[in-house]
Amino acid sequence: MNIQHIELIRLSIPFSAGTVQRQTVGQAQDDDAFNAASPRHRRMESLMIKVTTDSGQVGWGEAFGHGANPATVTALQAMVAPLFIGTACDQHLRTLETARRALHGFGSTGPVMYALSGIDMALWDLAAQAAGKPLYDYLGGQPRALELYASLVSYGGDPDEVFRQVRRARDQGFRKIKLHETRYEAIAAAREALPATDGELMVDVNCPWSVAQACDMAERLRTLDLTWLEEPVWPPDDAHGLARVRQAGVPLSAGENAAGVNGLRALFEQGAIDVAQPSVAKVGGITAMLQVFELAREYGVKVVPHCFYFGPGLLAVAHLCTLLPADVAVEVPFIEFERLLYPALDFKPRLTLAAVPGLGFAPDQEVIERYCIERVLIS
Ligand SMILES: [Mg+2]
Repeated sequence: MNIQHIELIRLSIPFSAGTVQRQTVGQAQDDDAFNAASPRHRRMESLMIKVTTDSGQVGWGEAFGHGANPATVTALQAMVAPLFIGTACDQHLRTLETARRALHGFGSTGPVMYALSGIDMALWDLAAQAAGKPLYDYLGGQPRALELYASLVSYGGDPDEVFRQVRRARDQGFRKIKLHETRYEAIAAAREALPATDGELMVDVNCPWSVAQACDMAERLRTLDLTWLEEPVWPPDDAHGLARVRQAGVPLSAGENAAGVNGLRALFEQGAIDVAQPSVAKVGGITAMLQVFELAREYGVKVVPHCFYFGPGLLAVAHLCTLLPADVAVEVPFIEFERLLYPALDFKPRLTLAAVPGLGFAPDQEVIERYCIERVLIS
């Protein structure tokens, strides 16, 4: 079974975050056009990769993502996808390694790596299908009803709105909730809405602070009993800086912006984080995620994958989470899409993966036709 052609499908679907008008309190955020959790967004993108074999089998992947999609599409079309056309599916790991070596000069993260990640995912989907097993089973995971955690968009630092949204998520049954807020007042309001006795609160601040600022903020946040504080330090790969902030006693998480498996390794070696967050559509696909899981086990660091996806990437993360301890929840964006690409996107606090071979990604073709903004065929 060889790869015959690869299709790229870029979707853009409008969503609601449950508020009439999201406001920005305090400093205007002019630098967040590429931040997927920014309050300015009204649509969310997925860059889906459909790999078709000469026997008509279809495997799906997703490459990161959001504002970088035009660059990732170009990387896929011009450089990455042609390396896989005509190759044997059962040699997928060898082909991936060859492609990775051929392209190593273009970085261990960024659009070329995102492209490789997406194709790797589709090839694992095909491999599990060929074996007649659901991907979780093929990977050796334990089937279970996976807990989801609600990853809220930014409400621009407005404490009242944050309180209301956290309550809304809690009322829908979510007991693990993550904010994208940087103001102490907004984070404290969330804790009030979800007391520690009632659920877990995580805060993703997206790398805003110097090490000194992050240490101060961590000191302030300590009494709020956060499950983790995510990416407090600029730049995101400052492992030494993170290790210093960690001394403040608030658990830290990072890893979605790590440069591949070795980027995660650097965080482990520095004792920089309590929770590792590799991102399947960025770090090198399922192949790299399995390597990170192994490394994290060696270093005794918990893994909770990053997942701000709604295409095949979300399902890939769910399958991978069956390899992790039962308290690891799958991140899902706390938004309502205008139309659902597949039924599981009507997020409930629990997700059960379909017991069908492969990834089980069965998108609504009508939704694809309606929201497709770019389509490229590589053969
Ligand atoms: Mg994050």
